[in-house]
Amino acid sequence: MNRRTFLQFSTLASFAAIGYFLNPLKLFELQNADARKISEPEMELPDLQFAELELRTQTDSIVIHHSGTENRKDLSAAEVHKYHRNLGWAGIGYHFVIRQDGTIERGRYIDTVGAHCYEHNGNTVGICLSGNFNYDQPTRKQLNSAKKLTAWLCQKYHLDPHSDSTLLGHRDLILGTNCPGMNLYEDLDELRDFCIRKVRV
Ligand SMILES: [Zn+2]
Repeated sequence: MNRRTFLQFSTLASFAAIGYFLNPLKLFELQNADARKISEPEMELPDLQFAELELRTQTDSIVIHHSGTENRKDLSAAEVHKYHRNLGWAGIGYHFVIRQDGTIERGRYIDTVGAHCYEHNGNTVGICLSGNFNYDQPTRKQLNSAKKLTAWLCQKYHLDPHSDSTLLGHRDLILGTNCPGMNLYEDLDELRDFCIRKVRV
C-alpha cells in the first residue's frame, strides 16, 4: 500500500468508525449491552482469618454444594470456616455460602484456589447452599440468590451458560458423593436456564 492509498484507506476507516458510533442503532446496542451487565449481588463479608491461600488463575466451572449435615442445620460461612480450619485446612473451602434466608456470605476469597472439589479446585468456584437437600428443599430465597450469584460469576469469568461444563453439581465431578443432595441437584436446570436468559458472554 503506497502512502496515498494508505491515506485514502485511513480516511475511509475514520469515516466508517464515526459512522458506526453515530449510528443510533449501534448506540442503542452499546447502551443496551451495558444495561444487560449483571451487577455483583449483595453479600455479607464475614471477617475470616485464613492460613496461606493460593491465587487461582483459571476458572472454567461453578460447582454447587450443600452443607449436607445430618442435623440439616442452616450453617453460616463462619461455622463452616471453623469446621474446615479444624480439619487443618486454610479456612472455609467454599467461595460462597447461601443461607436459607437467601443471604449470600463470602467464604474463601473469590480469586483463590478453593477446597471444595478434589482435583478440580484449581479451576472452579465453589458455592455451598446451607441445608441438607437429600431431605429438604432449598428455599425459594436461596435459589433466587443462587441464580443472581451464578449469573454474575458466568459474566465475570466469561463462562458460557449453554456449556455442559459451566454449572455443575459436586456429584458431576466426584464419584461417590450425592452432594448437593437430590433435591437441589434437580434445581440446577433452573439456575442454568436463568443464566442462559441473563448472561451474554
Ligand atoms: Zn459438595
